Amino acid sequence: MSVASKISDIRATLTDGVTLVAVSKFHPAEAISEAYAAGQRIFGESRVQELTAKYAELPKDIEWHMIGHLQTNKVRAIAPFISLIHSVDSARLLECIDREAARCGRVIDCLLEVHVAQEQTKSGWAVDELREYVASGAMKSLQNVRIRGVMGMATFTDDKVVVRGDFQRIAAIKAELEPYFYASFDTLSMGMSDDYLVAMECGSTMVRIGSTIFGNRVY
Ligand SMILES: *Cc1c(COP(=O)(O)O)cnc(C)c1O
Repeated sequence: MSVASKISDIRATLTDGVTLVAVSKFHPAEAISEAYAAGQRIFGESRVQELTAKYAELPKDIEWHMIGHLQTNKVRAIAPFISLIHSVDSARLLECIDREAARCGRVIDCLLEVHVAQEQTKSGWAVDELREYVASGAMKSLQNVRIRGVMGMATFTDDKVVVRGDFQRIAAIKAELEPYFYASFDTLSMGMSDDYLVAMECGSTMVRIGSTIFGNRVY
């Protein structure tokens, strides 16, 4: 099946208003071009070097989303063009993004990544720490980032009860934090190839789908 038909199959399953991020990490620019020809404009990448190379090579109306762990020393490379950073997992990173955005005269959209999954390896804010940080008001001084919502991942398991529980907790955190933000705090990024249908049932507004569109990644 072609990339185009896979994208249209996925689109047919999306709840109204849910945005599709095509996760193109580890796939070549040609694969992205195929998706682009099928009308897809939002792509997610997880490594800065790969992201900047693809940005340079591909059409400039693509919206690039950073979905992987981001180190502060890599922010400068993506600040001029990145559309949305899903993976903001510390105050230090958010402050760094704010500074780099100011340097290039931009306001960068960001999501706060929350950790609810059982794996230790998954990144993101611990729920309590995120709560404390937002309640502290420390973000008020940041003029060049706009917090658009929350991102999270479910535990890696076939047990749909566990997955649903994780998504419900991520959605609850988003709802709990809403009063601290403006109406633009409207994004709940959750759901990948194997679990996005459950994520949408739990209120996801943005799904990040890679392998179902592009096939298995060759690392
Ligand atoms: C790789 C990745 C995805 C896409 O995963 P698939 O299972 O290939 O759909 C989504 N979100 C994040 C954060 C990822 O790193």
